[in-house]
Amino acid sequence: MNQNIKPYIEHVKGDTGCIVTGYARIPLVYLNSRDVILLDSGLSRDGDGIVQLLKQERLCVRAVLTTHGHPDHIGNHGLLRSAFDCELYMSPYVATICSDPVNRLVGSPTFETYLELKAHYPALFPDELINWRDDSITVEGITFQILQLPGHAPEQMGFVTPDGVAYLSDAVLTEPVLRALRLTFCSCIMPDLAAKEQIAEMKYDRYILAHNGVCDEIRDLALQNRDSMLQKITMVERLLSKAQTMETLVRSVLIETENDLSSLRKIRGTHHNVSAIVSYLMDTGRVKKDINDGLIQYVSLTKG
Ligand SMILES: [Zn+2]
Repeated sequence: MNQNIKPYIEHVKGDTGCIVTGYARIPLVYLNSRDVILLDSGLSRDGDGIVQLLKQERLCVRAVLTTHGHPDHIGNHGLLRSAFDCELYMSPYVATICSDPVNRLVGSPTFETYLELKAHYPALFPDELINWRDDSITVEGITFQILQLPGHAPEQMGFVTPDGVAYLSDAVLTEPVLRALRLTFCSCIMPDLAAKEQIAEMKYDRYILAHNGVCDEIRDLALQNRDSMLQKITMVERLLSKAQTMETLVRSVLIETENDLSSLRKIRGTHHNVSAIVSYLMDTGRVKKDINDGLIQYVSLTKG
């Protein structure tokens, strides 16, 4: 699932394929035998292998469309731009967070200081903005249908290629990835659940999931992703049968999911996901917050 492998190209359907890395599938659409459009660009650690593969296949990247602003989806935008002089397409929110570490400081789950962010993410500006609410976008003469899939990340989009292949980015994960996750990474649960249900009703010829596979049917997997999220919400609700601060709740979830209590990255990632779940539980009237001697505490309203 997360191995170090030499990237290779897998054919999906017609002019649609994907670059397979150990961590992700990065869709590509052939404009002709030489020119391609990529959908996302993968983790930066895979960048050299991806560029090497494209050059070895004598392919030239003309444009990169971005589904959302997570580092494993925009990690090689700058590298691809310098290697191929391609155009970068992003939604307004993604363009905003990429353009300055100050903008990224809000809601960055893995880095907490301005200088850390500045060192890790060089400023990146798009060539074109994608209006993610539009039905479609035409790039280099190719029209992609846009799927609105916010929740996992702000302004997350999917794209359907002219071959009828839907790239769902991180809205649905493959079964092995889902099984391995302690908590599903999510910024806002309510639209994320709605996106998974919307995907369950989709009828495209094939589907590419960033992590990490290609499939012909999506309904069962989309509902399994939704149910897995619902189970995690129930777990957090149960842990709130006793009032907890966010800090102690995060610790309880780390213990419950047998996660590493000494990893800053895991604590911060869990904090991000638990905050989204608590916000959802408050929106749905299942949890309330109280102030107790200067501390915000959350407690379940469900009689157990
Ligand atoms: Zn993501």
